[in-house]
Amino acid sequence: MIRISQLKLPVTHTPEELKKKAEKALPGRHVMIRSLRIVRQSLDARRKPELFYVYTIDVEVENEKQILKQVKGNTISPAPQKNYRFPASGTEMLSHRPVVVGCGPAGLFCAYELALHGYRPVVIEQGAPVEERQKDVEAFWTSGRLDPYSNVQFGEGGAGTFSDGKLNTLVKDPVGRNQEVLRLFVEHGAPEDILYVNKPHIGTDLLMSVIRNMRESILRAGGNIYFYTCMTEIDIKDGRVSGIII
Ligand SMILES: Cc1cc2nc3c(=O)[nH]c(=O)nc-3n(C[C@H](O)[C@H](O)[C@H](O)COP(=O)(O)OP(=O)(O)OC[C@H]3O[C@@H](n4cnc5c(N)ncnc54)[C@H](O)[C@@H]3O)c2cc1C
Repeated sequence: MIRISQLKLPVTHTPEELKKKAEKALPGRHVMIRSLRIVRQSLDARRKPELFYVYTIDVEVENEKQILKQVKGNTISPAPQKNYRFPASGTEMLSHRPVVVGCGPAGLFCAYELALHGYRPVVIEQGAPVEERQKDVEAFWTSGRLDPYSNVQFGEGGAGTFSDGKLNTLVKDPVGRNQEVLRLFVEHGAPEDILYVNKPHIGTDLLMSVIRNMRESILRAGGNIYFYTCMTEIDIKDGRVSGIII
């Protein structure tokens, strides 16, 4: 794959125009792009009222090596490959299923990856599933009645579920983890453009259905999720966690 950056087009452009522009940017004659993936799309509004999108894209072409040899400047380069990989498994058999405490973003993704790789996690969450949690949050906003375990901070989806669902992060992505989170969101119902827009954002309503769909994936893969279940203590024997108290 070849990465091309700084492709600028009016916001009204068609996908075909983006492909043509990319083909023109590549050195050599009659370059044909076989596939194209948008890596980043940002808005350039410096010449208002004219608005432009500036793209970074990855393309698949024939004779990739030959094309790369002819490249001048720094807007075209080999596309870095950063696909997230699940950590290698250990060598010791687990004596029981892994337990994940809390079903915020950390617990949800941890449980999802464990479930996908056959570990059948047991998830406990002190709060409610997201549909019930929404009712508890609404009840608080209208009546002031607080459920200490199911509220804006606690419950399936975690602390940011009732915010605006911003998905951009300033954390660097050396192992492809950030991109994997966005990919899983799309797989569970988020719009595909979150994979490349500069400041992805999905909003609470959509976020709730993504969370519900991820829960269903965990259950389908053999995991269990227990809501309204609070861990109160960790049992440690010989320096090792031997259990949890709920
Ligand atoms: C108002 C608000 C808006 C936000 N908006 C955004 C945003 O737009 N974009 C963004 O990226 N980040 C946002 N954040 C930050 C984001 O929510 C957090 O970074 C994220 O939720 C942390 O995830 P976590 O899984 O580590 O913890 P949490 O989300 O806090 O999840 C922990 C979960 O564990 C459960 N739990 C805790 N203790 C126990 C126990 N003993 N037993 C059982 N369950 C337990 C809790 O009920 C909770 O559901 C926002 C945060 C807040 C508060």
